[in-house]
Amino acid sequence: MEKIDNKNFNSRTYLQIIEQLKNLAYNLWWTWNPEAALIFKELSPLVWETSNHSAVAVLKRVSDAEIIARLGDPDFYKRVTLVLDEFADYMSNTNTWCAQNYPEFLNKPIAYFSAEFGLHECLPIYSGGLGVLAGDFAKSASDLGINFYGVSLYYRLGYFKQRISDDGWQFEEYPQINADDVPIQPLVDKKGRPVQTSVTIGHSIVKLNAWKINVGRVSIILLDSNLPENELHFRELTGRVYGGDISTRIMQEIVLGIGGVRILRAIGIEPEIFHMNEGHSAFLTLELLREQISKGMPLAQAEEYVKKHCVFTTHTPVEAGHDRFPKSLIELQLSNYLKDLKLSVDEIMKYGRINEKDQNELFCMTVLALKFSKVSNAVSKLHSQVSKAMWKNLYPELEVDKVPIIHITNGVHTPGWANVRAHEFWNKRLGYDWTEKIMDREYWIKFTNHNIASDEEIWALRNILRRELIEFVRMRYLSSHSNRISISELDHILSPDVLTIGFARRFAVYKRAPLIFRNLDAIDELVNHPQTPIQLIFSGKAHPRDDEGKRFIQKIINYTKDPRFSGKIVFIENYDMNIARYLISGSDVWLNTPRRPLEASGTSGMKITIHGGLHLSTLDGWWVEGYNGKNGWAIGNERSYPDEETQDQVDADSLISILKKEVIPEFYNRDRQGIPREWIKRIRISIQSLITEFSSHRMVSEYMQKCYHKI
Ligand SMILES: *Cc1c(COP(=O)(O)O)cnc(C)c1O
Repeated sequence: MEKIDNKNFNSRTYLQIIEQLKNLAYNLWWTWNPEAALIFKELSPLVWETSNHSAVAVLKRVSDAEIIARLGDPDFYKRVTLVLDEFADYMSNTNTWCAQNYPEFLNKPIAYFSAEFGLHECLPIYSGGLGVLAGDFAKSASDLGINFYGVSLYYRLGYFKQRISDDGWQFEEYPQINADDVPIQPLVDKKGRPVQTSVTIGHSIVKLNAWKINVGRVSIILLDSNLPENELHFRELTGRVYGGDISTRIMQEIVLGIGGVRILRAIGIEPEIFHMNEGHSAFLTLELLREQISKGMPLAQAEEYVKKHCVFTTHTPVEAGHDRFPKSLIELQLSNYLKDLKLSVDEIMKYGRINEKDQNELFCMTVLALKFSKVSNAVSKLHSQVSKAMWKNLYPELEVDKVPIIHITNGVHTPGWANVRAHEFWNKRLGYDWTEKIMDREYWIKFTNHNIASDEEIWALRNILRRELIEFVRMRYLSSHSNRISISELDHILSPDVLTIGFARRFAVYKRAPLIFRNLDAIDELVNHPQTPIQLIFSGKAHPRDDEGKRFIQKIINYTKDPRFSGKIVFIENYDMNIARYLISGSDVWLNTPRRPLEASGTSGMKITIHGGLHLSTLDGWWVEGYNGKNGWAIGNERSYPDEETQDQVDADSLISILKKEVIPEFYNRDRQGIPREWIKRIRISIQSLITEFSSHRMVSEYMQKCYHKI
């Protein structure tokens, strides 16, 4: 299926092409359209690599004269203009899903507040799953044509760069983002003037600068306190993702919630819906209250008004994931602001307490968000049950199962996660429009049809992707050893023929990265089996203040150095979205071992499906809904044990047993052509059953239907 190219190309001058390329570089559309990314990569492979794949950094360093010269190559010229045409078509398309299904929302902006956005590796303003979900949300909102504005903070120092010491301990480095080299631009008003706002923190006025990221048809606004007018400690305030203690936390949250509403007003946006992605942004409800009260609305009515315009998504059953502030801190940082609201600190405290009369109860951002939202949701079915139980005291008159926290299960932006090879593969087999069929269940069901892709073709794809992952690991090894390694030494780092198991995510303790090592002899046997070996690749960061998570990393680093496992179990330093893309595409099996029911959803396992990877996971989060007995494997059962020790041992035993009895035999069971037919059958079922269901397109459409639209 050739890409339609009988269009009459808009004839452009070279200078127009350069202009349009610059415009494109500043729109993250190129991050989910690999033909576009490839153009920037080809313009300067070295800058592409060293900037962690920033189109902006590339264009800054390739002269107009060079671009013009290279457009002299008719093939390159054609590819560039084709990409620019597609981009222009995308941007001008008005016949979107939203226009077809919710036309009244075309003029009703959705403001989506999130403390982090994981959009691309060149913008390290995310720490993990929550941010990546927000990024995927924005991309799908763009694809579906939703009138969407993201709001977050500009973390000049980003989330940290991970370094591992010789004894396996994680250290954090904070290199500064160079704003000129990444796809962000100052936020300007209609006349092109920079837009600013301010918030009151304690007794100070903190001025805020703003940046803008274009994500296809939508944009994300980032607030930045690093202005020379601000006191020094406020300049640092938005420096790091979740940096500092609760005192920094509350100040960052004032900037995000209150500053966020103000910056939207400053550019004339009147959101119909304020979506709080996790409680960090919940102070926005106070700002909305203040706005109404200052217009003369009585308090009770103002509260109703706010509630009509807010929705809230809770993301974790882990207690520490819910910000709680003592009254003294609320008083210190907010009492000045509250004067405008005409409310006392005691009155405000009630909004953040389950028991309003309990003077000792801390102020909880989740409670604030729950109280002011017309719809609240959890991120999987199981997580909604857990959340209902967790917050039931807020609704003493209701039975637990009537607690108003619905579920909308997370999903991933499949076109953005599919790596280049996967795009090429599906373009050829399904046609270029497969990325537009993500929500079409029937479309993916036809994948049982062997005419679309034969077992041999799927197996070829799996082998290419596995090799690319392994060579990526080897390249990193090579560059970290100043290239003083010979080819034959590299042969001993992983093998492209071996069943490859990936594990990569934040090293939060409940995710139990070292679980598989509980039965060391069993792992030794599996890894070193002469005929049917396995190999394991780990990656992930622990939160800077999570020493137990760091000990988990150290434990795994030690195994990678153990002579029994050397070259067969590896750890890739400095996990980010780029490393994630290699791992989720190259791994045959994606290992996920959260301690039930602490994984609200989990999303990394959803990213493997389009690459023909298979999920091996405890029945937690999304996998409770995703697993159908034939599309991957389940570790343990749906039982939870009261003590962690027993739970861990039961799950670890189950994991080894499934590997031995099911996963490994199926992978190595080849027919005469060398094809593992049963394995590929499982891949087919996985694609059919999971692509649509666990896509962020489906997720965003559900938010529209069940949250935004709900009256
Ligand atoms: C998808 C993703 C995550 C989330 O992984 P989980 O397994 O759901 O915790 C975290 N970090 C990065 C970089 C990701 O791409």
